[in-house]
Amino acid sequence: MRDEVFVAVHHYQDPSIVARADLVADSYRLAAEAAKSGAPYVVVCGVRFMAESVAALAGPEQRVIHPAPEAGCPMADMIDLERAERALKAVRSALGRDGLGDTETVPLTYMNSSLSVKALTGREGGAVCTSGNARALLSHYLERGKRVFFMPDANLALNTARDLGLGSGETAILRRDGSLPEGIDTRMVKLFAWNGFCPVHRGFLPRDLAAFRAAHPGARILVHPECVPETARAADGTASTEGILREVASAAPGTQWGIGTEIRFVERLAASLGDRLVLPLRREACPDMALITPKRLEEALAAVAAHRRDGASLGGLEVAVSPTEREGAAKALEAMMAITEAAAR
Ligand code: SF4
Repeated sequence: MRDEVFVAVHHYQDPSIVARADLVADSYRLAAEAAKSGAPYVVVCGVRFMAESVAALAGPEQRVIHPAPEAGCPMADMIDLERAERALKAVRSALGRDGLGDTETVPLTYMNSSLSVKALTGREGGAVCTSGNARALLSHYLERGKRVFFMPDANLALNTARDLGLGSGETAILRRDGSLPEGIDTRMVKLFAWNGFCPVHRGFLPRDLAAFRAAHPGARILVHPECVPETARAADGTASTEGILREVASAAPGTQWGIGTEIRFVERLAASLGDRLVLPLRREACPDMALITPKRLEEALAAVAAHRRDGASLGGLEVAVSPTEREGAAKALEAMMAITEAAAR
């Protein structure tokens, strides 16, 4: 059964789920590596967009199982296909283009989005990105003279734009109804962004960082780039989940860290690197990630075992992907992996 079933677990999961993992990773590595395991059953312990991305890249003989199908992501739900299409057309027509099919403005879509929005991105010549490679993807397009429409996280868009040195007149956040803000010179704007956010990371505020610095003056503060720009500016650095892991793990014993991201990951980091002081800036937990419990995972594994044994139904646990969604989303995900790998060479 072990080689037949591959359990892929996101970093924000509880240690009881991490203990069952064949792979513990961020959303990029889940997408890039889980389907490549070749296992006929891939069980994804994370939220829905992660399971959908694995399913889009899975082979025809692989089945992708999500133990808690109701575990979504509020940020991903902030834009659907209809609104994404309308907003992309609005941006392109404001630039004097024809809407869908234009190649001057490319969609760049955060992994934290529905499969239908990723599929639109692939059809429209864009790519998916994660917090770990947003900078590489954004600079890839800007260096080629493209403008970018980023969905759905405005904070990741603005923090990445700042890293790349874009000025305030070169970015524009769409209004909540998807229309462009008034008074902007659209010809100057290189990065348009949807007005979405992560409710978990939005909880970290500059005052939390100030209080932490006062209590731990020697500590280095790292926050996730889904935090608001004011918080990102107040930190010593921003990094994706795996970026935080790499930086803290490679630091000297005895160093002190204040970390602004999901609490289960921070606690696991602190426990695994006991010779460094790793503390959360505040306790922020993602309720959707917590819907995967040991009981739900056991039930999913039992359903897989019954399916293998006698073809019993997997119920609603199998992630269904339409051929159109698979084709478009796989194109956008594969573009992300190609650009990320080229940038790393
Ligand atoms: S932490 Fe934020 S972005 Fe990640 S799944 Fe939870 S709500 Fe979505």
